[in-house]
Amino acid sequence: MTGMMNIAEVAVAAPLDKTLSYAIPEELKNTAVPGVRVRVPLGRRTATGYLLGVSSGETEKLKPIREILDTDPLFSPAWVEFLKKAAAYYRFPIGEVFRCALPAGLSGKGNDVSILSEKIYSVGDCGIEPAGKKQKKVLRLVQDRGEISLSELRLLVDTPHAVLSRLVDIGALQVASAERQRDPFRDQPVPQDNDLKLDVDQQSALDAMQEKLDAQEFTAVLLHGVTGSGKTEVYLRLIAATVAVGRQALVLVPEIALTPQLVSRFRARFTDQGVTLAVLHSGLSDGERYDAWRSIARGDVQIVIGARSAVFAPLGNLGVIVVDEEHETSYKQSEGFRYHARDLALLRGQAADSLVLLGSATPSLTVYRRAQEGEVLYLPLAGRVAGRPLPSVELVDMCEAEQVGALSEQLLAALADNHAAGGQSLLLLNRRGFAPYLICADCGFGLRCPNCEITLTYHQSARKLLCHYCDYDQTPPDICPRCSGHNLMPEGSGTERLEEDLTARLPDCRIARMDRDTTTAKGAHQRLVDSVLVGDVDILVGTQMVAKGHDFPNVTLVGVVDADNSLNFPDFRSSERTFSLLVQVAGRAGRGDKPGRVLVQTYSPDHYALQCALNHDYQAFYQQEIAFREPLGYPPFGHLVNLVMAGNDPEKVLRTGELLSRQLDHYGQDVEVLGPAPCPLARLRGKTRSQILLKSDLRLPLHRLLQYLVPLSKQIPSGVKLTVDVDPIDML
Ligand code: ADP
Ligand code: ZN
Repeated sequence: MTGMMNIAEVAVAAPLDKTLSYAIPEELKNTAVPGVRVRVPLGRRTATGYLLGVSSGETEKLKPIREILDTDPLFSPAWVEFLKKAAAYYRFPIGEVFRCALPAGLSGKGNDVSILSEKIYSVGDCGIEPAGKKQKKVLRLVQDRGEISLSELRLLVDTPHAVLSRLVDIGALQVASAERQRDPFRDQPVPQDNDLKLDVDQQSALDAMQEKLDAQEFTAVLLHGVTGSGKTEVYLRLIAATVAVGRQALVLVPEIALTPQLVSRFRARFTDQGVTLAVLHSGLSDGERYDAWRSIARGDVQIVIGARSAVFAPLGNLGVIVVDEEHETSYKQSEGFRYHARDLALLRGQAADSLVLLGSATPSLTVYRRAQEGEVLYLPLAGRVAGRPLPSVELVDMCEAEQVGALSEQLLAALADNHAAGGQSLLLLNRRGFAPYLICADCGFGLRCPNCEITLTYHQSARKLLCHYCDYDQTPPDICPRCSGHNLMPEGSGTERLEEDLTARLPDCRIARMDRDTTTAKGAHQRLVDSVLVGDVDILVGTQMVAKGHDFPNVTLVGVVDADNSLNFPDFRSSERTFSLLVQVAGRAGRGDKPGRVLVQTYSPDHYALQCALNHDYQAFYQQEIAFREPLGYPPFGHLVNLVMAGNDPEKVLRTGELLSRQLDHYGQDVEVLGPAPCPLARLRGKTRSQILLKSDLRLPLHRLLQYLVPLSKQIPSGVKLTVDVDPIDML
């Protein structure tokens, strides 16, 4: 049997730092081809793996593959190369990277038929009140979501089969099969496309990119333009040119649900051109997601639009990757495989000789610096299209202002005036709930989460105290747990209180609220957007959800209630985030024919992030910000890796941190080892957390040092979990 391909290289979905070799048994020789999923023995259990390659050799010492799960390859060699690079870059187990990159539902043992007919639960119509705590929890989740698939439900809450069947038995829940789930865009009429003539900036940006596209070589481009400068129109043209020559396009957006207008513009442009568009949004059932994935892998789709994870879409001939709003932090996965979709898009573009177009009004400092250094082609769009003016931004100094709750008299007056003039207003407060604290007026005691030691947010309409980090909740007590006083008071304002204050002060205005609490039900977000669009809402209050993506032509006033909230965040990027949030939200004003006005309430009106936002001056902000970061070696001047140790036993966590830090310091050349120090969230979900920050001017020494983590992690005691975050964004 010499020369036969009898050894398989398998990436097993387990925390292993390399691939493993397995023998291919005789009867599986025809089906064991690269690109299929397999079941293989691992220790005493059987695990799912991904077959990456075959070779021939001595198989005596190898265990055999047990089963092949796919009849055709799911993924191509080029795609495998991309994931291998991604795994190496983020130091994440290769098999786990595959698991994350493939659509949900493919990770376990399973035949695809069962995935396609997945169960969908919704609220029953004649429910008896359920008894158990678990039952209530599950029911509440289903009520919140309206409709939820079994796998989604299991991701959110521990859901034993008995609990579900009991809920169905008593009529509290209904169950149906997944085929009822539909693509929410499928039945919508194709929107009207408009035929525009590009302005000079748009045209020259497009010409420059067309040249790169024709050359079929990797190029990274930064399209820098304020909201309303016509970036999306440029994306559309570039992609039209790409599909015209038979190549494909991938469009990444921060969050699909928040960008329905972008999706409909793509549908308007391409639907009648025989171009197939796939939208990977979170409303897809696992079965639909899997179908979409297969049709993309087959080459049936020319354009894919999706959020972060769409960077793994198996397009075979990528001409263009667009990353819209490249600065958005939602591109970074915050747990498990902590990749950044923009950076992976660049990696993919390199491998596929594609053009990678990064668009933003407020580019991340990292990308802007690369553009300055000539590594990224810089294409600016100077102003808004059709000469529409940028809104005027004014700061309201809260040290001086008369206040009603969280609102200054200036902002209230501006809201009233805008309403009288027939305009709509947006009000941003990045804090949901009624009040961020419930405090005893007698003794000063504040209620905190027992798992996280963070203050509990008071939600008035739900009558609940809620931890925004771990979702712990409790009913607010009537008396202070410390002094038994009867004066527990909500302190500070969240969106719920803001809505209440506004209703009291501006009784003529129709007020709506958009935050996580009002948008959990299916379709709720879209209904809110629609009611603003048709003019049923005068003032829309909300968290940063209101700042993103929408194009509300009649919004002429935007108020930022608390700019200090993000400015005072314990993170070196807080200024960058504040600046970009302000520019973003200011861009919501005056999108139509009427000019816009923006009022920003703050206690630090002199801060450069606010001053620069006031003048819409990105360059000035960039200069000030790099002057702060360069001496500290923070990105974009240095590279960071954050190691987080977490565990139940504070003593163990501390010792592990010290041990690791000593060893890393010993091995690390040209790397600064900072810590261990308690994380800003030193206790989270009951675990004590400590971090070590690795910092280096160059990437190579960092990556070299990380290799030592594999042998070092053998010294980590059980009960302490180590997380490696390469290029961390959130260091709480
Ligand atoms: P951005 O993506 O930068 O926010 P858009 O592409 O959405 O900008 O453009 C803003 C608005 O201007 C949209 O309504 C778009 O249809 C319109 N628009 C874009 N380019 C032009 C143009 N060259 N002439 C006229 N209107 C345009
Ligand atoms: Zn908590």
